[in-house]
Amino acid sequence: MCIRIRVVDVCPRPVAWDPDEQAVIIRRGTHPPTALTETHLILRDLDAPPGPVLLCHCGEPIPLPPLLAGLELTEVPVVTIRAVAHGA
Ligand SMILES: [Zn+2]
Repeated sequence: MCIRIRVVDVCPRPVAWDPDEQAVIIRRGTHPPTALTETHLILRDLDAPPGPVLLCHCGEPIPLPPLLAGLELTEVPVVTIRAVAHGA
């Protein structure tokens, strides 16, 4: 089952993983770049392949909701650098 991204009105956290739906759920109103970065981190924890766009673990690009459409993964390198520094 492919990973999907859903935007919802009610969610305890700005971005969360819903294992039942196999979906990343984003609370409406979340700062879009933050939502994209958090989504990327969740996907990474799920062993989805890295790439310039968000990928499902099968390698297919995940359709982005309008909230995230057109955004680049600009904040991800920062997160990666932080992770590397943390591990060193
Ligand atoms: Zn898939």
